[in-house]
Amino acid sequence: MKKLLQSYCLYFCALALALVVWGGRSLLQYHEGFSLMWILPGVLLLLLLAGAGAARRFDKPFLPPAWVLWGCTILATVATCFCNMDAYRDVGQLPISILLCVGLLCALWGLLRYASLALWLPFLFFQLAQIAAYQQYRTRINSLVLAETFEASGEELAAYLSGTNLVYFCCAVGAVCLFGVLLSLLLRSARGSLPLLNAGFLFALLGLLYSVAVPSARRTPDTWWPVFSAKDLGCAFYEALMHNHATVKCVEALASPTEQPSAISTLKGGEGVVLVVHIGESVRSDRMSLNGYERDTTPWLRQQPGIISFTDCISAAHDTCQAQIAILTDARRDIYSKIPEMQPRTGSVLDLFHTNGFRLFSFFGRRAAQQLKYDRVVLLLTSQAEKRYNAPGSPWTGIPQIQEALAAAGNNNAVFFINNEGSHTPFEHYDRENPPFVPSVHQFENPADVGVGVNNAYDNTIHYTDEYIRRVCDALKGRPFVYVYVSDHGEYLGHAGAWGRAFLGENKIHYHDTDGCRVAMFVLASPEFESLHPHFAAALQNLRSHADMTVAHEHIFHTLLGLFDISTPYYNSELDLCSPLAQPYTGRKPQPLPHSTGK
Ligand SMILES: [Zn+2]
Repeated sequence: MKKLLQSYCLYFCALALALVVWGGRSLLQYHEGFSLMWILPGVLLLLLLAGAGAARRFDKPFLPPAWVLWGCTILATVATCFCNMDAYRDVGQLPISILLCVGLLCALWGLLRYASLALWLPFLFFQLAQIAAYQQYRTRINSLVLAETFEASGEELAAYLSGTNLVYFCCAVGAVCLFGVLLSLLLRSARGSLPLLNAGFLFALLGLLYSVAVPSARRTPDTWWPVFSAKDLGCAFYEALMHNHATVKCVEALASPTEQPSAISTLKGGEGVVLVVHIGESVRSDRMSLNGYERDTTPWLRQQPGIISFTDCISAAHDTCQAQIAILTDARRDIYSKIPEMQPRTGSVLDLFHTNGFRLFSFFGRRAAQQLKYDRVVLLLTSQAEKRYNAPGSPWTGIPQIQEALAAAGNNNAVFFINNEGSHTPFEHYDRENPPFVPSVHQFENPADVGVGVNNAYDNTIHYTDEYIRRVCDALKGRPFVYVYVSDHGEYLGHAGAWGRAFLGENKIHYHDTDGCRVAMFVLASPEFESLHPHFAAALQNLRSHADMTVAHEHIFHTLLGLFDISTPYYNSELDLCSPLAQPYTGRKPQPLPHSTGK
């Protein structure tokens, strides 16, 4: 047996036979002839010849012992079959991955020895995590997912810490460690780097020769596992970090709109007006009974006379930060849209209110769990706030803070900026004592299996937000106030086959082609506000007349200015829904609503 394993002849005969049996079937069907993709194989061939020359010169073996090659081939085959989620997409090309994997196992050990495990183990773990993520959530671990994960709070991550996921995690760690042990046992006795490097060149060359035989139409980078997967994963990490970094830098670089002259014509100060700017979390327009949803998720809002709901409001981005920027600055799209005129020219609209006599108070959910991007961006956009309140956990606990800020504001005009947990995953903020919709599930173990419960939990959070808004408006009762609510982005609850956000992954569906981008937006003004100034009444009348228009986050900056008649060079009447000149959003959007339910 040992003799057999030590025979190169047997090893290469077996390899050739396996490749012919495996590849012949599919390769014989190819009629295009060989591709011209010969450069890389040519380079490898030269390296291999140089390696052979060096082995001869230094009197070393050309290749590692045959049994090492057997072992590496078995390890590579197992790794490819279990860790490469694209392995079975075109089985005819599977040997490419196996050959490349053998080559990399040998070459990396030859170069780095035990340190090569520091590359292999995390890589294989992420490959297994990718398969588990795809099985459950139909998502790949791409830069968007990583960017969101870096920003996720403890609660959000905890929603994914289900029993099944823990089992997956332990199995993946166990499998990866076993791989590391076997690889070390196999290669530690392979003496000298040169034979291992030669094996690396040889197997990479064989893999490439196999792949050049594949017609170009069928050739995809996915078959060059693990090379391309490692590259993709590295790029995804880099992009995720750069994406977050670039977002913060973009907001930091914006000059405040108060650097230009501005003035307010409607208020002199001391009227006790409160403008509430509430950026909702993950609320789809079609899940509010206010907008015609058959379940009564917004029993209070839908009964408010004079409420102006915009049923066709398009969110700028599936990412909270990008959406916040589009809402509060004069940006018209996601800052990555790359269209210069759609980029923000100036900072937060809240600065203009502050400069024009409003005191600013901000109300958040939990405090600063997300250090990288979200907190920094939202803090920059609300930098003029004289006090910031946090209500970790249930948003209802923030009501006394609203009352405290009202007392502090006295007769001054004030802006209350609210951005709490709302309907953010894992949909756990609702009245647990009296959940209106049951059974309610807020653990994403396998959302497709518990879809009804997850959908109930989501609807419960909207019902809860309705009551939150009722309580805030109750605290404001008797004051001239106007409540402007807009959600940052939608959510997928099995819609378009996806769960969560931005995770359309394999389906390659664009966010703006799904109803997930259609978010809740409404304006509610107290009678005291409407009668305070003729401009307010006229502005609200214009708003009402635009309720059926397709609007977007790009309208908020200018509409807030138009509502109070604040003049600034940044104001654009075509984006002011309080102006008769308002124009609809013309960017990318899903199919029109089947029937308008605008109020
Ligand atoms: Zn969000």
